[in-house]
This record gives sequence, structure tokens and C-alpha cells, in this order.
Amino acid sequence: LVSRKRHPENTTVNVKGETIGDGKQRFVFGPCAVESYEQVLAVAKEMKKHGQRLLRGGAFKPRTSPYDFQGLGLEGLKILKRVADELDMAVVSEIVTPKDIELALDYVDVIQIGARNMQNFELLKTAGSVKKPVLLKRGLSATIEEFIHAAEYVVSKGNDQLMLCERGIRTYEKATRNTLDISAVPILKQETHLPVMVDVTHSTGRKDLLLPTAKAALAIGADAVMAEVHPDPAVALSDSAQQMNFDEFNSFMTALESSGLIK
Ligand code: PEP
Ligand code: MN
Repeated sequence: LVSRKRHPENTTVNVKGETIGDGKQRFVFGPCAVESYEQVLAVAKEMKKHGQRLLRGGAFKPRTSPYDFQGLGLEGLKILKRVADELDMAVVSEIVTPKDIELALDYVDVIQIGARNMQNFELLKTAGSVKKPVLLKRGLSATIEEFIHAAEYVVSKGNDQLMLCERGIRTYEKATRNTLDISAVPILKQETHLPVMVDVTHSTGRKDLLLPTAKAALAIGADAVMAEVHPDPAVALSDSAQQMNFDEFNSFMTALESSGLIK
């Protein structure tokens, strides 16, 4: 069902008036994790200065260590919705268990399925059976073929409002947190009709590489770019090394806006 051969036209995903996959590039910004109402509101206001309305934030955080901040859970979803309602934005947030999909419907505009859950087939099937756009991230060590099969799980349950996100894969290279597989973008665009996003924060894990990788993503045909922004990354409860502060975010946006890469 996701194959371009069976369905030559691009699928577009509509998220509260923002269309992804229509040939115009979109952006998803926000903190790694929701920490407080004030924190999310500050990031959202900064985004609005650049006309950005797709707000991300993790409420359920799948952390490598059980002793790291696990997220605010439902409280985090409530904060995201409150800010989005106040500023006319849309919420993108990760859900990690099938039982929370139903709950999430009241709070999120896009259900994110994270890299660690790309092959959580029960989660994929549950997300596929609701009427809510889904953002599926590539697994840590998933081949493109496995990624496409995971996408098929969602769409085969009836939900065709699906976007794919390349977020880097695990290789022997240690200079970056993961290795951004940039050629996955045109391959996914050729093989499927789904919108393709690139997450420059989790793929690189390096602030100095956010702008060049975002440019590469746009140049190679990505429909959207995701990056993390935090009011004070030094005190962030997760991913403090690679989230942009507001000055960095403003420079990032200004550079992209004048790059000629955004239609
Ligand atoms: C995220 O986007 O918050 C995240 C945890 O990313 P990933 O699943 O790609 O690691
Ligand atoms: Mn993060």
C-alpha cells in the first residue's frame, strides 16, 4: 500500500492547516522533552516569529537509561495542547505504548512513533487504526526495507496519513551520534508515496551540523526537517548537548530562509 508503484501520486498529510508532502518544505521544532508550561510556551513563541506552527515535544521519553528523566507523561501532553491551543499550533509527540494511543487522540495532532519502537508491531497496528496523522521514525539499525515494512503495518490498518522520518542509523562512525543516511530520502521518495522528514538533531547529535544537514535534507528532496530547540539547553533534562538555544535557532532559520532551499 505504501509503494509508489501502486500509488504514483504523492500522499500529502494535513496537520491543522499545514500540508506536508505538497512540495513546500515544512519544519517541526520544539524541545526534546516537555519540562514545563513556561518552557514549551517560550519555544513556541520563538517558533511563531518564523511562522513555524508544528510543535514537537516528548511527554513519554524512551530513554536509554531507566535512571534518566522519563518525561511528564499525560501532564506533558496537556502542556503541549494548552500551548498549541493558545498559539494556534499543532502538536507532534511520541507515544510509546498501544494503550496510550486512544488517550493521545485528545492532545496530539501527530502521533510520533520513535526509532526504538519502529518494529513495535502492536503499536504500529494501533496507530494504524485511528484517524490521526502518524510520524514514523526509522529504527536505530533498521534497513530501508524494514522501515518500509513498518510503514506498511500502519497503512494496512487503514491510516494513510503517514510520514516517514530518517533520524540516522547506527554505524561504526563515532563523530556523530548516529550516521545520517541522507540517500534514504530519495530512496524512500522513489519507493513510497509518503512524505519524508529528516531529523537533524538526533541523527547528528551535534549543533554545528544542524544547518549543513538541514540544507542537505532540503536539497535532496526532504518534505520536512525536524530539530530540537530549548530555552536553555544547558539545563535541559534530556539531549542537552544538541538542542539549539533561541539565538542558535534564529541563526539557523535565517540561514535557511536565505538559502534559496525553501519554496
Ligand atoms: C525524539 O524525536 O524525541 C526521539 C526520541 O527521537 P528518536 O526516536 O529518533 O530517537
Ligand atoms: Mn531528543
